[in-house]
Amino acid sequence: MTKYVFVTGGVVSGLGKGITASSIALLLKSRGYKIFMQKFDPYFNIDPGTMNPIQHGEVFVTYDGCETDLDLGHYERFIDEELNYTSNITSGKIYKTVIDKERHGDYLGATVQMVPHITNEIKNKVYEAGKSSGADIVITEIGGTVGDIESLAFIEAIRQIQYEKNDDDTFFIHTTLVPFIYGSDELKTKPTQNSVRDLRNYGIKCDGIVLRLPYASDKEMKRKISLFCSVPVENVIDSVDVKNIYEIPLNYHEQKIDEIILKKFNLPINKADLTYWKKLVNTVNNLDKEIEISLVGKYVELHDAYLSVCEALKHAGYCYNAKININWVDSEKLEGNVKLSEVFKNTKGIIVPGGFGNRGTEGMIKAIKYARENKIPFLGICLGMQLACIEFARDICNINATSREFDANASFAIIDLMADQKSIANMGGTLRLGNYQCNIVSNTLASKLYKKDDIIERHRHRYEFNNEYKELLENKGMVFSGINEQANLVEIIELPNHPFFIACQFHPEFKSRPTKAHPLFKGFIESSLK
Ligand code: GLN
Repeated sequence: MTKYVFVTGGVVSGLGKGITASSIALLLKSRGYKIFMQKFDPYFNIDPGTMNPIQHGEVFVTYDGCETDLDLGHYERFIDEELNYTSNITSGKIYKTVIDKERHGDYLGATVQMVPHITNEIKNKVYEAGKSSGADIVITEIGGTVGDIESLAFIEAIRQIQYEKNDDDTFFIHTTLVPFIYGSDELKTKPTQNSVRDLRNYGIKCDGIVLRLPYASDKEMKRKISLFCSVPVENVIDSVDVKNIYEIPLNYHEQKIDEIILKKFNLPINKADLTYWKKLVNTVNNLDKEIEISLVGKYVELHDAYLSVCEALKHAGYCYNAKININWVDSEKLEGNVKLSEVFKNTKGIIVPGGFGNRGTEGMIKAIKYARENKIPFLGICLGMQLACIEFARDICNINATSREFDANASFAIIDLMADQKSIANMGGTLRLGNYQCNIVSNTLASKLYKKDDIIERHRHRYEFNNEYKELLENKGMVFSGINEQANLVEIIELPNHPFFIACQFHPEFKSRPTKAHPLFKGFIESSLK
């Protein structure tokens, strides 16, 4: 019998609901339960795959090729479980399913409505996640803020779940903001009271409240919230602002949120094993070195557009007790008359992550050339690998190389559209997505880093290295050290006469974990520290 935790948010967005959900998941997992997580997003896109990263932040990709909200990355990093297509459900997906069913004739005779057709579809997604994952506990985060018109159907669906299920099958957590008012210099609980009342207007009774605040609340405040919101005082949990997000699960654990949930579920309160997590927090709070890494991209104005890359860099830093300071470099600005030696003055390593479209790519190519010529450790990811090949072909092989993505009529498209992409007209969900295997060539940097000859990584791209140019680049010293043999696709390239120059077509950042740094990032940071 699966149990269900729902996490809603009130007052404002950006409260850290995703981190709250992940932290609770981590604590329940640490007590021996199998956990699955999912997020409902109220927007009408089928998935965030077609959205501008500057608006939405990065697109996280699951192993089964689902393009998802970046919160899924938090989930995976906290609970170290691979999530899948049942983990990110949007209004777009729900409505599409219902409309397709209507056209198919599945509702014969019925008027198709928000309630029950849309709400039933939402409920199915919750129950399906429970069934297909075999989890003891499913944690579902509802995107947006209670009261938004957009998320009403989700709120109604989870209300029905609360009503349909036994009392000990569900736990509803509402996260709110407790603002500090300057002048009177106090924390204010009214927005929380109002938000919980909104939730009650929709028929939902919450079991716990997580307060986001700048410092811990006192007993009196908790008693007040408890009384006005009809929640036991011990179920009112503080989520105090922290510098290091990994402290949050430990803060919740001290306030016994995991015990409170398990008690309501009538499940055994097994001993929590948080040793590894405490060790991580201790490492992060005691880093004794700093290092500057330059991240060169075109979405740098929104750091969340590169969230998993930044996290993966940090994780690699923890292995060497090093704090990573990112120098955010807008690639488009490098295209003008700038002195690269100034831009990269304090930089110990350069990373060029993924991206789409032509804008800013000449700046990225300049940065790659600078890294190659000045023997600065370089890691290229996806577009970063494609541009590393273009740079090498132009500068070392003397051909006017480019990618078909930037020039449809290019004579030297050393990066070209993949064969199976040529007939595709729809943009959404049609990239090469998710897990693919890659063979590692022995005696290469890649084999030294992975210590394996067969790996699986997650992908998100439409273009590939054009094998017609392989020999030309190989003869001039480029090593193709990772190949997908089924489709004969280049997955990893490297340059041997350089301290560390490697790039991959896949996205290693999605598989990095705070306590398990990814081998490519680990190697990159190790050599940047030298
Ligand atoms: N735009 C490139 C492609 O589609 C790279 C994609 C990426 O960096 N994720 O192949």
